[in-house]
Amino acid sequence: MDTPVTVAQKTAAPPAATVDLGLRFDNSFARLPGAFYTRLPPASLPEPYLVGVSGSAGALIGLGAGDARRADFIDAIAGNRHIAGSEPLAAVYSGHQFGVYVPRLGDGRALLLGEAIGPSGEHWELQLKGAGKTPYSRMGDGRAVLRSSIREFLGSEALHHLGIPTTRALAVVGSDQPVMRETVETAAVVLRMAPSFIRFGSFEYFYWTRQYDELRQLTDYVIERFYPQCFDAAQPTIALIEHVARRTARLVAQWQGAGFCHGVLNTDNMSILGMTIDYGPFAFIDSFDAGYICNHSDVNGRYAYNMQPEIAHWNLYALGQALVALTDDVDATKAAIDAFIEEYAMAIDAVFRAKLGLRTEHAEDASLISGVIELLQATHTDWTIFWRALSSVQSTGGDSVRDLMIDRAAFDTWVERYRARLKTENSSDADRAARMNRVNPKYILRNHLAEVAIRQARGGDYSEVARLLKVLEQPYDEQPEFESYAQQPPDWAKTLELSCSS
Ligand code: AMP
Ligand code: MG
Repeated sequence: MDTPVTVAQKTAAPPAATVDLGLRFDNSFARLPGAFYTRLPPASLPEPYLVGVSGSAGALIGLGAGDARRADFIDAIAGNRHIAGSEPLAAVYSGHQFGVYVPRLGDGRALLLGEAIGPSGEHWELQLKGAGKTPYSRMGDGRAVLRSSIREFLGSEALHHLGIPTTRALAVVGSDQPVMRETVETAAVVLRMAPSFIRFGSFEYFYWTRQYDELRQLTDYVIERFYPQCFDAAQPTIALIEHVARRTARLVAQWQGAGFCHGVLNTDNMSILGMTIDYGPFAFIDSFDAGYICNHSDVNGRYAYNMQPEIAHWNLYALGQALVALTDDVDATKAAIDAFIEEYAMAIDAVFRAKLGLRTEHAEDASLISGVIELLQATHTDWTIFWRALSSVQSTGGDSVRDLMIDRAAFDTWVERYRARLKTENSSDADRAARMNRVNPKYILRNHLAEVAIRQARGGDYSEVARLLKVLEQPYDEQPEFESYAQQPPDWAKTLELSCSS
């Protein structure tokens, strides 16, 4: 086993000038022993520029609109200045990638800056993604490209505003420094935020390297900070697994409802807090296909849309395998992991009932739900447009959603059952429509919308990144001036492919 080294001590780079943003830091992760990370400063990028900024993310740590636009802050995100109070470090982890255990991964291009304290006292870990090489970079260059950074920025803010747990993104900063991928692209850094970036793979690392004291310490750290109720349980570690399983189940149910496909559900991309983390070739489904694979390198469809629940459960087994070392109680560990099954079943029912505008639970709802999904599958109807339009169904007959359907006879059969079901609830059409429009978004981050923003940003125009963010901040509202952002992808976008390269 190799011991992490402090790269900062080995290189002779001059200390960077400090920028004081008035942020208060309390860096609890950095107080863990050295086995958990390597301290090092970000590598610098020349002549950085601001590509995008999220005011709502900045507000979480008390930054005003002007703060994120300060030249010295942009410089700090680009690694050219030190943020007062931060203690940059790269965390170590491992994980199962496409089902295969990889003994050492870690922050290969991300640096944790520390925990900024928000106005209401909560801790927000700030992380730079694309900040240069670390001891965990393996063959990588430590960089992220503008394209993937804009996608992560918009993707994570979009999910947040949909109400899906996720890491946040405060800003994207670019530089003309070339970065080699399939073609030459340019570098960018995303300033991400989360209560914690600890992953399932963080636990796996200490288990597989037989560092059981550190495994215990990490577990206690996570329980103390994020799951304190587990300390009251007879077996806190088992209780932790069960909480994580249930949170993960609820997260995946929300993804399924929104038609969100993560793309790379390796265990190192699974948050211990049950939030969406590490945006790569993610996508929202346009024309529905349950077997949709967003990552074109995922040839076997391991991470296809309809595989996400099963894979999340599998990933919990990888976490349980690591944590069982602390309890030796295999049966209780399995039971805690399998709480996922029950929680997911409840959560997915709740998600689809809400999408259908139902307030009560009926035994036949399951077949109503599977019926509509089969219909959408058979006709490849646009997922988001369909659900949004479904609120137009009147209990007495008539709706505009029928016009969307290719197989109208099949839709008519289904919608008659749906109407009959609605009658059992006695809800007013207007109330139900309003309720449905609060859970069935009008605006999602369609791939072609991100692509347009990326192409313009490559030409130095960042206005579309800002405009798209604005639209996605109100996904459930009608925004007549942005009607075109709610349409199906144009023909040119049908051939877009998402690769793992980022
Ligand atoms: P991902 O699939 O993007 O979550 O990354 C998997 C692992 O590869 C993590 O340990 C990353 O830090 C690392 N990694 C990905 N891209 C790079 C890169 N360009 N340079 C260094 N490490 C990278
Ligand atoms: Mg990752």
